[in-house]
Amino acid sequence: KATIVGSINLDTNLRVHRMVKPGETIHGKEHYTAAGGKGANQAVATARAGSKTRFIGAVGNDGPGEQMLDLLKEEKIDVSGIEIIQNEPTGQAFIPIDDNGENSIMFYAGANYAFGTEEVAKNSSLIETNDFVIAQLETPIEATIKAFEIARSKNVKTILNPAPGESDLPEKLLKLTDMIIPNETEAETITGIEVNDETSAKKAAAKLHELGVEAVIITFGAKGAFYDFNGYSELVPAFKVKAVDTTAAGDTFIGYMIATLEKDFSNLREAILHGNKASSATVQRFGAQPSIPYKNEII
Ligand code: ADP
Repeated sequence: KATIVGSINLDTNLRVHRMVKPGETIHGKEHYTAAGGKGANQAVATARAGSKTRFIGAVGNDGPGEQMLDLLKEEKIDVSGIEIIQNEPTGQAFIPIDDNGENSIMFYAGANYAFGTEEVAKNSSLIETNDFVIAQLETPIEATIKAFEIARSKNVKTILNPAPGESDLPEKLLKLTDMIIPNETEAETITGIEVNDETSAKKAAAKLHELGVEAVIITFGAKGAFYDFNGYSELVPAFKVKAVDTTAAGDTFIGYMIATLEKDFSNLREAILHGNKASSATVQRFGAQPSIPYKNEII
């Protein structure tokens, strides 16, 4: 049902009492690796939601690359569109987390930036025969534009999660986007309109509609998710839960929403409710992919 064009990272997490200062060496308390990258997280979420999921992206010819491919295969994701790049390593992020739960992230995009229009074109059949194509901004924009052009030519719906936020998104990309899903901060970065409530979200949505985007969804963390589509708009409230770690909340929301969504977006509100429900489970658990729930856990 969905083809994801996006990033794959190996996350190396190190829990520390406090952040290290320049020139200093400190002991870590705990060390663990996990699969990450917004593309891979969203693919895992759509797959766990019970949707057939395909991936177009790249890893390096190295141990982390093999590990990431195995993890995605375990989730029954079609990895035939993942290229193995020879001269770049698999994307990696290094994440110290201190006792206050605060983190910093240093990453090297590696293979994620070494695939472009050619690799997407080679895998066009993975897009053409599907309902949706989903992309984020952790891989080259030209590759996303190519994927969206292929999708449009075959009446496949295009969905953009503009994360991490970027202020000068090419107009060409927005014109090719059917649905955009930013969070509050990203909505503000793209439109230049401060987004903090329903009224301001509506203004930002109007601007995005003007640029050619049919459906606008803005996620509002613990407040829920706002949509503006086909003349209707509403802030659909989040589920009240005690959050311990909001990592991958947005990725879970997107995966579960897309897994429920009809191709013509006619059941958008129901799909958002499903996204809210699933991501409320994610925020009650630690980590990125380990915290994304399986369909049978969402009742
Ligand atoms: P991102 O992780 O991309 O910044 P948000 O923080 O907006 O995305 O969260 C995405 C969705 O996850 C929200 O729309 C909401 O449904 C759910 N969510 C996030 N934080 C909470 C929370 N504290 N309690 C319940 N649901 C939450």
